[in-house]
Amino acid sequence: KIELTAIEKSFGSLQALKSLHLTIPSSSFVSLLGPSGCGKTTLLRIIAGLEEADNGTIKMNDSTIYSKEKHIQVPPQKRGIGMVFQDFALWPHMTVFENVAYSLKATGKRKALHDKVQTALRNVQLESYSKRYPHQLSGGQQQRVAVARAIANDPAVILMDEPLSALDATLRDDMRILLQSLVKQLKMTAIYVTHDQNEAMAISDHVVVMNAGEILQQGAPEDIYRFPCSKEVASFIGKGT
Ligand code: ATP
Repeated sequence: KIELTAIEKSFGSLQALKSLHLTIPSSSFVSLLGPSGCGKTTLLRIIAGLEEADNGTIKMNDSTIYSKEKHIQVPPQKRGIGMVFQDFALWPHMTVFENVAYSLKATGKRKALHDKVQTALRNVQLESYSKRYPHQLSGGQQQRVAVARAIANDPAVILMDEPLSALDATLRDDMRILLQSLVKQLKMTAIYVTHDQNEAMAISDHVVVMNAGEILQQGAPEDIYRFPCSKEVASFIGKGT
């Protein structure tokens, strides 16, 4: 379970997040849905520890990983969180194997490292691609390597920032199905950022609709679709009024 309490973040005079409260149950697949600039990426980066909030508390399974008041700031690599970015962010000079191994701590045990990398690659169906370089892979394959890298260390939580937006429509469907089944199989909690309402509805079991640094509504996709709480939410999920 992830609990965010009164998270605030400003960039100069811009309030990117306005006292945000959100609870994400374990093993759920949650989408953060909202227009460009509403604060989705900022929220993801704050959960990952890549950005510091100005205020508030973050708890993971009842242990505090961030508290402004108590001066707690657990570093990103100790949060048990994997992250997948829109642009894959692979190292071009490293092989697929090396890209995935890079995120694992140097244990000194070569066999254990090798097994973890191969297991992660098998989970994204790229076991036989370990010696290739990113430029020798399609966009979809590159994004699968990025997913393998994010899951290699068995994180409890995986954060994904528009992971499908650089892919074409057919690939997007395949990747969506892969991500959904992987999250279920590995019993991870997934937080998925998108500005595409159809994608959010299709991939997640809980949707959080945001605008201008605030949560407008959250709930099961079908409930939000059937009972949008405002005209703003209705028009944003493509329902009109
Ligand atoms: P998109 O869908 O376009 O990625 P988003 O909902 O993820 O948008 P954020 O990237 O979280 O939005 O940005 C929220 C607001 O904060 C935007 O107005 C953005 O310009 C601003 N912002 C984000 N990061 C910074 C920064 N490092 N410095 C200044 N302003 C920032």
